[in-house]
Amino acid sequence: MNNTLEMVYDVIIIGAGPAGLSAGLYAARAKMSTLILERDRTGGQIAGTEEVANYPGSIKDATGPSLVARMVEQAEEFGAVRMRADVSGFDFEGTIKTVYTDKGELKAKSIILAMGAKPRLLDVPGEKLLSGKGVSYCATCDAEFFTDLEVYVFGGGDTALEEAMFIAKFARKVTIVHRRDQFRAAKSIVEKAMNHPKIEMVLNTGAKRIIGDGMVQGIELENFITGECKEVLADPNDGLMGVFVFVGYLPETGLVKDLVKLDANGYIITDENMKTDIPGVFVAGDIRSKSLRQVVTATADGAIAAVMAEKYVDSLHD
Ligand code: NAP
Repeated sequence: MNNTLEMVYDVIIIGAGPAGLSAGLYAARAKMSTLILERDRTGGQIAGTEEVANYPGSIKDATGPSLVARMVEQAEEFGAVRMRADVSGFDFEGTIKTVYTDKGELKAKSIILAMGAKPRLLDVPGEKLLSGKGVSYCATCDAEFFTDLEVYVFGGGDTALEEAMFIAKFARKVTIVHRRDQFRAAKSIVEKAMNHPKIEMVLNTGAKRIIGDGMVQGIELENFITGECKEVLADPNDGLMGVFVFVGYLPETGLVKDLVKLDANGYIITDENMKTDIPGVFVAGDIRSKSLRQVVTATADGAIAAVMAEKYVDSLHD
């Protein structure tokens, strides 16, 4: 610990999801002294994903946690050091940057921000307990698991409607539940979803709770106009149903919002080399402003950020 606090690392990576772990692997392999900070569980969002079927090469046995364990092992094999710490602030001025944490002040020549984003929750009973067990926040990851089953999608934005149409490629029937009578999504997307033969819309309605013993078996809905509540249970022949929640995302940018540039949705703006406007500060993964947030894009960002950080640190020595 003392050694960690006294050292000036070549790079400190904030966040140990796929982006941070990949950055750690590439940085350590390039012989940079590398510290990866994680707040609570390692692995970010995929640590809670039962199956990762769309990361190239990860088939059959690839659960989220097993993929994370392999990423950790690989990064550590090359010398990356992991530390559990709660970051409370940064000083990005000058060539030596400071990361303030509950374990003390940590110093580095470069920083990679990989704190990710988290899906906004419905925040109803049963949701957290059944997350990964029928409740999902990622259609690309999980829609296939609901082949020929009934699925409820919550949200009224572009993501909810587009993902509902993607899910409808697999599911027997998709019901979009939205809290208002107007969709936030673009008109063209709303029209397409409304005309979809497998999609039904339930408006002015929200979830009161998600029901299930081990897997999602039903939901309780509340009509906000009439106040009526009703339980919707899975078809007895299916025994289970899917619940997809797309009510927006929250990038973890609270600590850096006054230090780096953010887009209109609160994500950090970088160039294609993961650089911010601050020399020595790079960004990787879901916290970045970009069009596709997946494990495969997070790991690619991490690799690029680490290589760019290496070049930057080398330039300091020249
Ligand atoms: P969003 O536009 O913020 O929409 C979130 C939706 O969730 C809204 O309909 C909102 O309802 C609803 N919602 C929020 N909190 C809720 C709660 N607690 N309970 C129930 N419903 C709740 O988020 P998004 O759809 O993820 O899109 C994010 C951004 O990406 C947007 O700018 C969007 O245009 C963009 N995007 C674009 C495309 C595309 O162009 N093809 C595709 C995907 C995303 P209210 O409407 O009542 O507030």
